[in-house]
Amino acid sequence: MKRRPTSTVAVGNVLIGSEHPVVIQSMTNTDTRNAAETIEQINLLASAGCEIVRVAVPDEEAADALVEIVRDAEVPVVADIHFDYRLALRSIENGVSCLRINPGNIGSKERVREVVLASKDKNIPIRIGVNAGSLEKEILHKYGMPCSDAMVESAMGHIALLEDLNYNHIKVSLKASDVPMMIHAYKKLAAKVDYPFHIGVTEAGSVTKGTVKSAVGIGSLLAQGIGDTIRVSLTGSPLNEVPVAKDILQSLGLRKEGLELISCPTCGRCQVDLQDIVERVEDYTSDIAVPIKVAVMGCVVNGPGEAREADIGIAGGKGEGLLFKKGEVMKKLPEKELVDELLSQIEDIVTNYRGESNES
Ligand code: SF4
Repeated sequence: MKRRPTSTVAVGNVLIGSEHPVVIQSMTNTDTRNAAETIEQINLLASAGCEIVRVAVPDEEAADALVEIVRDAEVPVVADIHFDYRLALRSIENGVSCLRINPGNIGSKERVREVVLASKDKNIPIRIGVNAGSLEKEILHKYGMPCSDAMVESAMGHIALLEDLNYNHIKVSLKASDVPMMIHAYKKLAAKVDYPFHIGVTEAGSVTKGTVKSAVGIGSLLAQGIGDTIRVSLTGSPLNEVPVAKDILQSLGLRKEGLELISCPTCGRCQVDLQDIVERVEDYTSDIAVPIKVAVMGCVVNGPGEAREADIGIAGGKGEGLLFKKGEVMKKLPEKELVDELLSQIEDIVTNYRGESNES
């Protein structure tokens, strides 16, 4: 998939831009002032595959907790600041790897200059984060309501403030809960600037609805080559966000590692408990980072053929089933042995893959 060409910014040791893989981000929902809890959540997110974590910095106590948080976090930390430039300065001083702040919202040009100088000094990027729900009054007045053009105008205003200070270590997000609006906004801004984009559907909702909205919004932009980092925003634990983000990237071929499961929806031909088998395979492979495609199909009629591209798979039948590889049948087994044999084959593939990787 051809990515939209962008500049590159470094958030700690994570490079963001079209020359680099699309990065998964999330945001803690702990009280940042509670450093221990925040560190624990950041590191759980990191273990799940999150590569950058943002934390809210609403006051000085939270900004000061960043010293400990940054020290113990396993991934780069972004400070999310609204309005108060002093919190931005303190967060930079306390070691964050990136700021999320809108320079047009922090007051005088002198304040913007101070933040830019401190960011330059520590070589950290600034993410301009436009949100359809908090556009500037003048822009809202001009357009009458939030819309993609209003979001782009807001972003261009913030960008101009940084560029006037000769600062271009920038990434931009244009989030809205309205999926078409956010898609249009990113596409319009993509025609104007070459900064990397952090993309997401904000306030997407519950795990089910939010997953669908995020997949549609983020997925359609990524499919057009737009987007360099992503965040899936779901109500509840941020730990729910990371697997969804990974699945979005995997479904577009932007991430290869981990299990890709091909499983049929079942129909009247299915005579095995496919849901249970799928759950067992998912549990077994949840910690495997090796890229592997596994097919779990309900019947032998169409199963192997439908899952031709799978590394390994099974197709259920009455009291027995087939084990197949790349669409070719390997052997027939009694139903009770089928899943164990599949898991053992997966283990072999993973072991071989690791062996080959070590050799190269
Ligand atoms: S693989 Fe078989 S059981 Fe599954 S949907 Fe296709 S025909 Fe139905």
